[in-house]
Amino acid sequence: EPITIQTASKTYPVFIGSGVINQLPSFIHEAFPTITNLMILTDETVANLYLSDMQEALNPFDCKSCIVPSGERAKTFDVYHQCLTFALENRLDRKSVVLAFGGGAVGDLGGFVAATFMRGIPFIQVPTTILAHDSAVGGKVAINHSLGKNMVGAFYQPEAVFYDLDFLPSLPMHEKRSGFAEVIKHGLIHDPSFYSWLLEHIDSLESLGADDLSHMLSKGIEIKGAFVSKDEREEGIRAFLNFGHTLGHAIEAEMGYGKWTHGEAVVIGMLFALELSRKKAGLTFDCEQFKNWLMKLGYETNMPKELVYNKLVERMKQDKKSVGQKVKFVLLKEIGSPVLYEISDEELMTELYKF
Ligand code: NAD
Ligand code: ZN
Repeated sequence: EPITIQTASKTYPVFIGSGVINQLPSFIHEAFPTITNLMILTDETVANLYLSDMQEALNPFDCKSCIVPSGERAKTFDVYHQCLTFALENRLDRKSVVLAFGGGAVGDLGGFVAATFMRGIPFIQVPTTILAHDSAVGGKVAINHSLGKNMVGAFYQPEAVFYDLDFLPSLPMHEKRSGFAEVIKHGLIHDPSFYSWLLEHIDSLESLGADDLSHMLSKGIEIKGAFVSKDEREEGIRAFLNFGHTLGHAIEAEMGYGKWTHGEAVVIGMLFALELSRKKAGLTFDCEQFKNWLMKLGYETNMPKELVYNKLVERMKQDKKSVGQKVKFVLLKEIGSPVLYEISDEELMTELYKF
C-alpha cells in the first residue's frame, strides 16, 4: 500500500493517509528492534498544534522532543548546533532515531542533524505541509549559510516517510498555495493527465477533501520519486525538478525571503518558463486558461512591480545550475517532456521585458 522510493543508496516506503502516524510504533519496532531512544525534532508552530498527539502515538518509546524556531529560522548554524547539543545531552547514540516532524524547514534541518550526528543515524520524515511532499522525498538535506540558501548539506535518505493528512487543515492559505505550486510543477514536467486532473478537480485550496489531497500528494511523490530514483545526486534529469525555480529563486531572493512563499514565487517562474517554452521549444499550451485557474486559486500571476530585471538576471546567473555566462532554463517541449535550454543574458532581459 505505501509508495516505494528507490534510490541508489536506499529504498524506503512513503505512507500517506489520515491517521498514518498510528502505524509508526510498529514500523519503528520492526525496522529498529534495538532502538535506544527517539529524538522528535519539530518547530514551535507544529509543537503547539500537534506535539502532544505525536508524543501519545510514540508513547512506547523513550522520546526526547527538541523544539526549534518555525520556518526558515530553523535552518541556521546556531539552531543546528543547539540540536546537536540537545542530542548529546539527551544521550542519543548510534541506535537512536531522529523523527523530523514539520514542514520542509524541519525536514531539511532534521535530516542534516541525522546525517551528521555520530557520522549518521537513521531518520524518519513526518511532513506537515503540502510543500513537504516535495522536500521529504529525495534525500536532499541542508541548512543555510549567510551567503546562500541550502549551501551546507548532504544527500541522506530517510528510512521512511509518514505523511498524515490530518496535520494539513491547519496550514495557512499562503502555505497551502506554496505547496500546491510544487504539485502543479510535478504534473507539468511529467504527467499531462495528472495536470488535466488538477485543472478539472481542484478549484479551491480552502477545503481540500481527503481523497483529493491523498491523490495529488501521492502523484506528486511518485513523480518526484521517479526523477530521484534515476538520478539521486542531481547529475542529470533530477535538474528537471527545477522547472520554474530559476526565476522563482531569483524572485524570492530579490523580494527578501518571507515576503512571498517559495511556491508563490515558483508560480511566476513557471508562467515565464511556459511562455519561453512556447517560443523556444515548440510547446502548445493554453497559458490563459492556466493563468485564470491560478488566479481563482488565489495566486499572484504578475511579476512583482518592484523588481529590477537586471538584478534578477544577476541572481539567475549566480544560481548553481547555470553554466558559465548562460543561464540554464528547464523548458517543456510538451506537457510532461522537459528539456534544458541555455539562454544568454541579452535574450533573457528581452524576454523578461516582454513577459
Ligand atoms: P516550513 O517548514 O518553513 O513551514 C512553513 C510554515 O508552516 C512554518 O511557519 C511552519 O511552522 C508552519 N507549519 C508547518 N506545518 C504546519 C501545520 N500542519 N499547520 C500550521 N502551520 C504549519 O516550510 P515548507 O514550506 O514546508 O518548506 C520550505 C523549506 O523546504 C525550505 O527551507 C526549502 O529550502 C525546503 N525544501 C527542501 C527541498 C528538498 O528537496 N530537501 C525541496 C523543496 C523545499
Ligand atoms: Zn521548490
